[in-house]
Amino acid sequence: MATDYDAPRKTEDDSESIEALKERVPDKLSGSVDVEDADNPSGFELPGADLSDLELDVVVLPPQEDEFTCANCFLVKHRSQLDHESGDGPICSECAA
Ligand SMILES: [Zn+2]
Repeated sequence: MATDYDAPRKTEDDSESIEALKERVPDKLSGSVDVEDADNPSGFELPGADLSDLELDVVVLPPQEDEFTCANCFLVKHRSQLDHESGDGPICSECAA
């Protein structure tokens, strides 16, 4: 008796939830895809291309003759901020303090 009750119950639950999902999923997908498609391409491409060009220009710049790269903090400092030369390289006055 108990097994007879269990079998029909499970199949009913399964078919119900699957049908509910099938009805909901297409609606949600079509709605969100429309919104994201309109937002992403125009918002991402323009600033992305501009930023990569700017970053390359800044990184390529070498230290000037009156500047040095501190061997401790790796910041580019003016020679007036050079405290002393260590075995690894120049040390700025901030790191030496
Ligand atoms: Zn330093």
